[in-house]
Amino acid sequence: MIKIVEKLHHAAPGWTVQADVVVIGSGVAGLSSAINARKNGLSVLLLTKDLLSTGSTAWAQGGIAAALGPKDSPNQHLIDTLEAGAGLCNKNAVQTLVQEGPAAIENLISLGTVFDLDPQGNVALTREGGHRQDRIAHAGGDATGAEISRALVASVLADPKIQIFEHALVLDLLKDKNQRICGVTLHVMGQGLIDGVGAALGRAVVIATGGLSAVFEQTTNPLVATGDGVALALRAGASVADLEFVQFHPTVLWVGEKSRGSQPLISEAVRGEGAVLLNENLKPFMSALHPMKDLAPRDVVAHAVVEEIRNSKQGHVWLDGRSLGKDVWMKRFPNILSSLNKFSIDPIKDLIPVVPAAHYSMGGVQTDMSGKTNVPGLFVVGEAANTGVHGANRLASNSLLEGLVVANRLGNHFKDLPKQMEPGESNVKGELISGELRKKINKITTQGAGAIRDEAGLLATLKELEETASEKTQDGSTQAWEATNLFTVSAFIASAALMREESRGAHWRQDFPNRDDKNWLLRIKGEMQEGRIKLTTQSIDL
Ligand SMILES: Cc1cc2nc3c(=O)[nH]c(=O)nc-3n(C[C@H](O)[C@H](O)[C@H](O)COP(=O)(O)OP(=O)(O)OC[C@H]3O[C@@H](n4cnc5c(N)ncnc54)[C@H](O)[C@@H]3O)c2cc1C
Repeated sequence: MIKIVEKLHHAAPGWTVQADVVVIGSGVAGLSSAINARKNGLSVLLLTKDLLSTGSTAWAQGGIAAALGPKDSPNQHLIDTLEAGAGLCNKNAVQTLVQEGPAAIENLISLGTVFDLDPQGNVALTREGGHRQDRIAHAGGDATGAEISRALVASVLADPKIQIFEHALVLDLLKDKNQRICGVTLHVMGQGLIDGVGAALGRAVVIATGGLSAVFEQTTNPLVATGDGVALALRAGASVADLEFVQFHPTVLWVGEKSRGSQPLISEAVRGEGAVLLNENLKPFMSALHPMKDLAPRDVVAHAVVEEIRNSKQGHVWLDGRSLGKDVWMKRFPNILSSLNKFSIDPIKDLIPVVPAAHYSMGGVQTDMSGKTNVPGLFVVGEAANTGVHGANRLASNSLLEGLVVANRLGNHFKDLPKQMEPGESNVKGELISGELRKKINKITTQGAGAIRDEAGLLATLKELEETASEKTQDGSTQAWEATNLFTVSAFIASAALMREESRGAHWRQDFPNRDDKNWLLRIKGEMQEGRIKLTTQSIDL
């Protein structure tokens, strides 16, 4: 059975900083968690591995979902979320998400986020795949995430009790004598007083490190999405769940067969405004497959696109957005338009070549709807978490919302933090996988554990991962720390995907093509035990 790295190797911490709460990551989840901690009167250390604005949040285009429209209700939002989740959502968690969604948007507005308005001066709402109502609030046309990030970053920068460290890569969690989390080790690429490996101590640690889609060869995510939070939480004894469910976004710009890394996304909102998918014969194909046609849930559209590509001679399908006209493209999608223009595509008169790419991880560290994990002192918020709201397939634009709602509720647990921290012995001896193996891990993961899976491919992925990781290094570097985390995440995804012998939501097994509610209305929970992956099944409402 595949062996996982139990401890990242690094130098002994040469310096220490401390605050009440340590927050890792500066996307919607991390920034909102820092703001919530301050609301509860706690001081914060905000650590982020690149710049404050780096992460998926600032790249979010379509918007944020909440039942704000006159014809909408939290219950309708609940129904659509449960349907997209293909039977695996935790209904209580979804109730909280949809009921607290409108207030989360109000809170964002009070923090300075400027949403696009309709002619009556209300928040303008659009529709995306899987939604039966217009309920997606957006900003700057297709720059919703950038606007949310701008407003939250401004709030954080204005608060002197939030100390910020950019270029600070968190390595592992620290525990006190009672096995409670009391901080992290980190590597700062800084200048001046703080540089190299150090320790950041806190009475609580919030992981908000975002997604893991950079484990695949092509992704819509920025390349910082290496699943660090999931890997370091596993090393500290946290439970993960649903890691076999990785959403592949159906409409990512095809920029050539050899293109790897981050790829430009064409938001689902473009289909919400009327764009249609066409096959190689320029025929629409979604209307025959689902009553919601091109706005069917994402897994349905992604599978249809994969099938069309398999049955055609071209490596992509087409997205026809010509009917939107110049005004809609320029006002609603200025950033996508400019990104297409860079590839000499004018969507007002040209078809857009698109393919699926890894986009969002439904799985993550198991938490309740207030971010609490099974490890005392450890909280996880945002895409790194698994609250159960997304089930087997996230409903479009529910992820920014989840980050906000859960961060706003962290205070439920912040009242019980211990008064003091007493760090235990910190063991710095560990192992690393060479940073040079990152591309190989990407390839192996994509080939066997990508959008289409079967037993032989998954077993091959696990075998090749094991062979790849047999050589270890002790040379600590950002590349090696990230590669080691990617290896861990890949091994968990492939193992859970192998265990789930059915097709459901974003998990598609060619050898088990049907959904199997009799045997698989269950969540797969994962843990690391003595460097081995331990998977068990769990009821979905736990
Ligand atoms: C192109 C694109 C478009 C999207 N569009 C939408 C949309 O319209 N609506 C929607 O709801 N969702 C959308 N999503 C998904 C959504 O943006 C993300 O799920 C959400 O922003 C995740 O927020 P987060 O705060 O959890 O993570 P992120 O915003 O990704 O932030 C993670 C942070 O953690 C930091 N970090 C990671 N590892 C470490 C480490 N080891 N040490 C220190 N810091 C670390 C990163 O640098 C980053 O600051 C989109 C995603 C992409 C990629």
